[in-house]
Formats: sequence, structure tokens, C-alpha cells
Amino acid sequence: MLSIEAEALRYIPAGFAFRHNVLAYGVDGPELLVAIPDGESSTVDRIRLLTGMQVRAATFPREVIRKQLSTVYANPSDERDDDAEISSPAIRAVDEIHEVAVRSRASDIHIEPHGDGGRVRLRIDGQLSVIRRLDGSLFAQVVSRIKILAGLDVADRRQPQDGRYSFSSDGSSVDARLSSIATLGGEQLVIRLFDARSQRPILENLGMEAGTLRRVRSLVRASHGFVIICGPTGSGKTTTLYASLAERDSSAEHLCTIEDPIEIRLPGIAQVQISARAGMTFSRALRAILRQAPDVIMIGEMRDAETANAAISAALSGQLVLTTLHSYDAARAIDRLVDLQVSRHAVAAALTGIIAQRLVRTCCSACRGGDDCARCAGTGFSGRTGVFECVETTEALREAIVAGAPAGEMLRLAEQDGLRSLSCDAMRHVSAGRTTASEVERVLGLAASR
Ligand SMILES: [Zn+2]
Repeated sequence: MLSIEAEALRYIPAGFAFRHNVLAYGVDGPELLVAIPDGESSTVDRIRLLTGMQVRAATFPREVIRKQLSTVYANPSDERDDDAEISSPAIRAVDEIHEVAVRSRASDIHIEPHGDGGRVRLRIDGQLSVIRRLDGSLFAQVVSRIKILAGLDVADRRQPQDGRYSFSSDGSSVDARLSSIATLGGEQLVIRLFDARSQRPILENLGMEAGTLRRVRSLVRASHGFVIICGPTGSGKTTTLYASLAERDSSAEHLCTIEDPIEIRLPGIAQVQISARAGMTFSRALRAILRQAPDVIMIGEMRDAETANAAISAALSGQLVLTTLHSYDAARAIDRLVDLQVSRHAVAAALTGIIAQRLVRTCCSACRGGDDCARCAGTGFSGRTGVFECVETTEALREAIVAGAPAGEMLRLAEQDGLRSLSCDAMRHVSAGRTTASEVERVLGLAASR
């Protein structure tokens, strides 16, 4: 009898396993270890197509495999849901979707029920657009194919699931994070893509004005402090965090990150992945990391009171803490921290600076709005650049924080100290012709008219 790793079983659905008398019993890096019957080597190709894995096959007498199959899978007649021998059109469709996504620099792929079938949308420069429609049976097969790639339970269409896989594109590997959720119309998949080729961001390339860049640099190069980067989802906060870490010396300093998910792998930096399933929460990871005496800690996001308070104490005990907060602008970040039950005194004592930011789409240099432009698909925009405001905590600002001054009052103090607001910074890009006034209005909304 073979010893079987439960993880391996997830790659081959029961229906397929019984039909072809094959049993996946282990995973070794990119390879799936599979028992196949003597003299049936053609099955290896089918398994490779089904799973997207390399296959290392060992041959066994058919009866031995059958016997063990019936002990590890439920009766195949119960597996009608799981008849997931994926058709080659579905495999091709998934390969094409991956390819188009990478080619068009998409950050994520949405595969969702729509009408009688489904549709595929890509998020490019923050905007979703439909690239393909799938009829009912192809949609179901595409969903199954992707779930198998990520090691999810194909038969379970009700519970939310998440997993990861990678695929290659142009000879380089792209990491994909899949999450599935049951919606009223059917199962919906969102795949976030992390291209290993994407360059590690640096502050100079984010679109900061020279004075802002100087301020940000002095904040993130300091030996201690508490620096918050704020903005809504998709405003580029994580990129700025990574770029800030790049200002540090990873060979001379102990740099740690706590992230969910880890978006870019950084050599020389201890990166910790949050995992709710394994009980590794932000605050638990932070407590563990603090015992290892780090110089700089990057915390992906302060989402709850426990994490926010732990982050502030780390900063007060002499580390440099870099983190993000979901807040509209710099002045309102203080209120958000107080909402997270951090005391005003602690905020005033720890905070060294706040950076608020947005991303605006930049005008396509190939066409400036032509219909059949290959670079921007006629949208007139290609790529994005950052809009920033940076507030350093002055003595007057500390007093205002402790006194509970409203956001408007803090904004006035910051402006006295030379703050360039988000809207003012955005107009710099408009004047230079890098973006349009309507794009700024779309992104900044009210702030543009402030
Ligand atoms: Zn164009």
C-alpha cells in the first residue's frame, strides 16, 4: 500500500481517478506523484493537462490501485458533481485568459456568472473590463479547471474557498491567488496575479514631487517612528510600503514584514504571511516578530484595534513601524486611529508622519484617445502614477491630536507647515499633461473641489 498525502488527492477528482485507475499520492514541488497501471503511460499526459502539474508516474498492478482508490475516495457513484474531466477547450480557454491577463498587465481576473453562462473581466490600471464571454458548459468547466489548479474542492460550490497556483507566461512564473464565493447567480472566482518579473518599486518611480519625496525619505529612513500610508483600496499604498523598505539596508538591518498577502518577495527581508486558518493574525505575528528585535517592521494594514495598538507600542519601544490605514486623507487618519481605540496620547507620542495617496491613470503616449490604439484599447490611458500628500508630525500637530482637534483644524496646521494637499498635487500632473482633469475628479471626487 502507498502512503498518501491528502494534498495530492485534491489534484485529481474521484471520477477521473476511477475512470483511469490512477492515484495521486504525493506532491514534490512542481511534480505530482501518481500511481498508474502497468502499460498505460498515455494517462500521464491526461493527468498533466488536468492538473497543470508535472507528473512523476510509478506503475502498479491495476487491482492494487483500484483497491486503494476505494479506500481513499468515497464511492464514485457519489461523485456525480465531480465529473471534472476537463475538456480541452476549457484548458485552452484558461491558458488564453492567463496569457491575455499577463500581456495586458492586469492585476486581477474576475470569472463570474453572467446571463446563461459567464464572463471574464480583467482589472487593468484599476478599471475592470470584459474580455470574454463563456457559454454555460464552458463557464462551468473553466471554473472547475481553475479550482483544480489551485487545489480547491471542485465539488464544493457553496463554501468560500481560497488557494494559490502559478502558471508560466513568456518563460517567467506568475503567482496566482484564487478565491471563490457562491453568489446568487453561481460561483464567482477572483484571481489576483503577482508577476515575478514586476520590478521592485522604488520611491523615485512613484510620481512624487521633489519636496514630497524628500519628506517621505526622511520619514522612512529614520531610526524609529510610526509612519502611516493611507488611502482607499487600490490607491497604491502597498507599493509605497515596498518602496519605503527599499530605502533601508537589508544586509545591515533586521527588516521584517507582516503581510496578507505577500505581494512581492524581497530578498534579505523576513516576510511573514498572515493566515487566519493557521491562527496567524497580524497581532500574533507582530508579537512574535518583536521578540526577534527588528529594526524596521512593515505591517501590511492596521485593520483592527489589537493590531493598531500593538503597532503603536512597537513604535514607542524604538522600532520604525511602517503601515497602512484605510482612510480618506492624512488629516482623517488620526480619527480613524482613534476609532481603532488607540489613545490620542499614544498617537501623538508615536506618530512621525502620514502619507496619503491615490493613483491616477496616465494619458496613453501612443494615441491620446484614438479608437484602435493597441496600447490602451482606445481608453486613452495607459499606466498610472501617484498623487501624494505628506504630513510630518510637528509639535503643534501633536498638541492638536491630544486635544482632539477636528480633521479640518489638523489640515490647517499641516498647511501652515507647507502641506501640498492631494488635489494640489494632482493638478501638477494635469498641468504637465500626464493626466486629465476629469481623471483627477474621478479619483479624488470631493477632494478635488476642496
Ligand atoms: Zn492609446
